[in-house]
Amino acid sequence: MKPLNEIIRSDILAAQAYAVAHTPEGCLKLDAMESPYEFPAESKKALAHILADAPLRLYPNVADDDFTARLKAARALGGNVDIALGNGSDELIQFITLLAAKPGAKVMGIEPTFVMYRRNAALFGMEYLGIDTLPDFALDTAACLKALEEHAPEILFIAYPNNPTGTRYNRADVEKLIAAAPGLVVVDEAYGAFSADSFLPQAGTRDNLLVLQTFSKIGFAGCRMGYVCGSEKVIAQLRKILPPYNMNQLSLAALKFALTQEKWINDNVARLKGEREILFAALEDMEKVQVFPSEGNFLTVRVPDAAECFQAFLAENILIKNLHGVHPLLHNCVRITIGTPADNARVLAVFAGLYAA
Ligand SMILES: *Cc1c(COP(=O)(O)O)cnc(C)c1O
Repeated sequence: MKPLNEIIRSDILAAQAYAVAHTPEGCLKLDAMESPYEFPAESKKALAHILADAPLRLYPNVADDDFTARLKAARALGGNVDIALGNGSDELIQFITLLAAKPGAKVMGIEPTFVMYRRNAALFGMEYLGIDTLPDFALDTAACLKALEEHAPEILFIAYPNNPTGTRYNRADVEKLIAAAPGLVVVDEAYGAFSADSFLPQAGTRDNLLVLQTFSKIGFAGCRMGYVCGSEKVIAQLRKILPPYNMNQLSLAALKFALTQEKWINDNVARLKGEREILFAALEDMEKVQVFPSEGNFLTVRVPDAAECFQAFLAENILIKNLHGVHPLLHNCVRITIGTPADNARVLAVFAGLYAA
């Protein structure tokens, strides 16, 4: 056999794997926007039945249970929308990117943002254009419009609200980008449940708009259930390249269960939004930190020294995300997932210990 470095692409040999943080034993995990809420015992029983009935010996067929129609009904989507399911929205980001991966094709993202847009562009040999937000993480609409005109990217990703900043851009500005974009616009609503606005009602109304959602941030991160809503024409193209069995029987069973848990999900979302505002107000009162308004289930905070802050949390057995070094605009920023009231009290205690006047 030839040496691996003559077989495997040099860019892959040089790349780093996506780092999933190690969670120390007993650590409160507030680094990855997971829901803090466990299913009640009654629901667990229902879930156990659904899982026990999953036909594991058969290949999964998304069409069998008409998940598309069920999701459409659950999200009140219009007639012209089609939906494709993905093994997490991560998988959908990958295959949407692949749709346009021609020589010379470009992907645009609004930085700092979700790293998978850039990583997938690189994976498929596409140029990635990162257009920075303003220092307060608001959209630099003029710069984005200019880049769209100059570079005509095949795909524009807009995380709405954005990760890792929590910012939900001004809707009218996003509409301007959608109208001006010569290629596909993927509005990634991974945090849509926690947001005051959504482009889901516009899905299917124009071919260039794809709206991405996921169950991950609302209690099902372990099941890998994402979906993309768009026009029938574009989703039909995506179906040609998605692996035919990308959703496994267990995740489809979990999806069936999730669709019966709307009230539980909505109650938890309401609780987390309330907690987010409580935490936000408390942090706003601390002069030494700057907390950014968020419409996700997390808060991004600029502190005097992000590494020191991260370590202080770890010393209290709480894992948060240190964003320092990820992008220049994230200088000394940390990101903290909203947890239960008790979790958030612990978070505030660490902040108070470090930064109370
Ligand atoms: C978490 C996240 C995703 C990935 O969600 P999965 O469905 O778990 O793959 C996609 N986009 C953004 C912006 C996210 O933060």
